Amino acid sequence: VSDFKEVGETIKKSKRVLLTSHENPDGDAIGSMLGLGLGLESLGKEVFLYNKDGVPSHLEFLPGSDRVRSALDSIPGVFDSTLIVDCTDVGRVGEGFQDELGSGRFGTSIIIDHHQTRKPSADLHLLVPDASATGEIVYFLLRCLSVELTKDVATNLFAAILSDTGSFQYSNTTPQALRVAAELVELGASPAEISQAIYENEPLRKIRLLALSIETLEVAEDGRIASLVVAKDMLDRTGASRADTEGFVNIPRSIKGVEVALVFRQEGDALWKVSLRSKGKVNVASLAENFGGGGHERAAGCTLSGELGDVKRRLYSKIKEALCWKA
Ligand code: 5GP
Ligand code: MN
Repeated sequence: VSDFKEVGETIKKSKRVLLTSHENPDGDAIGSMLGLGLGLESLGKEVFLYNKDGVPSHLEFLPGSDRVRSALDSIPGVFDSTLIVDCTDVGRVGEGFQDELGSGRFGTSIIIDHHQTRKPSADLHLLVPDASATGEIVYFLLRCLSVELTKDVATNLFAAILSDTGSFQYSNTTPQALRVAAELVELGASPAEISQAIYENEPLRKIRLLALSIETLEVAEDGRIASLVVAKDMLDRTGASRADTEGFVNIPRSIKGVEVALVFRQEGDALWKVSLRSKGKVNVASLAENFGGGGHERAAGCTLSGELGDVKRRLYSKIKEALCWKA
C-alpha cells in the first residue's frame, strides 16, 4: 500500500504531530524521523520526536537530534497524527505503545516504511518495499507536500539512505536511491562529513567489545554460515552498550564463502537478539519470521529465548534447510 495522497492530506490537516521509530534505532530510523520532522516544521506543524532508546551517539551530529525525547510521558498533550517511520511492527516502537495507539491521544496513526514483512497495523500506511531506505520515501513525501528541502533535512535523509544501503554497497542501491542521494548532496548534504561522523567516530569501548566478540567467531556448514556472540559479560567488561554492537554482523558477513552471517547478542540470562544477514541465497526475513522477527530479504532480526546452544540449533536448522535448495 503506498498512498502518498491520503497520507499527505492527513499530514496537511494535522497541527500537532508525533514522530517515532523503532527501538535501538539505526541511521534510517533517526535520519528519516528527523528529516521528516524538520520538514514538517517548515510547514508550521508542531512536531514532537520520540524514540524509546534516544539517539545513539554516532548519530547525535544529525541536525535536530537534541529534540528527540526518550520518555513519552515527557511529551504532553494529544496529537492530530502519529507518524511511525522505518517500523512496520508497531510493537517495536516500545512496550505498551501499540495499546496506547488506540487510546485517542495519538490521532491518526500512519506507518511510513520500506520493510516487506508483517501486517502493518496503523490507520494509514505508506509502504514502499522498493525504496532503499525510509529516508527515500520521506524525500518523496516532503516533495509531495511542497516542502523546501533545507541542508539540515538533506543531511538527515542522506544519512538515512547511506545507512540502509551500507554506504551504497548493498543490493538496494538502486538508480533512484543514487539519484535521490545526488539531489540531497546538491541541497547541501556532505557525503564526506556525514560518513566521517557516522563511521569514523566509534567509541573506544565499541572496538574493545568487537575484539572480545571476534574471539567467538564460528563457522558452520562448510563455511557457509558464520557467527559472532556478544555476551553480557563482554558488555560489562568493556562498558559498552547494546547500541555498540551496530555493524558487528558485517565481520562474519565479510568472510569469503559465507552465505548467512549472524550475531547473537545476549539481552537476558536466556534471551538472545539475533541479527541476520544474507548474501542473497537465503531470505533471512522469512527465516526471522519463523521466530517472531522480520526485516528485509538480506537483513533481518529476531529475538529467541533459551540457552545459546539451543538458540543456535533452532536457527541453524532453519538456515540449513534454506541452504539445501541452493547450490
Ligand atoms: P539489525 O540486525 O541491524 O538489528 O536489523 C536488520 C534489519 O532487520 C532491520 O531492517 C530491522 O528493521 C530488522 N529487524 C531486526 N530485528 C527485528 C525484529 O525483532 N523484528 C522485526 N520485524 N524486524 C527486525
Ligand atoms: Mn530502514
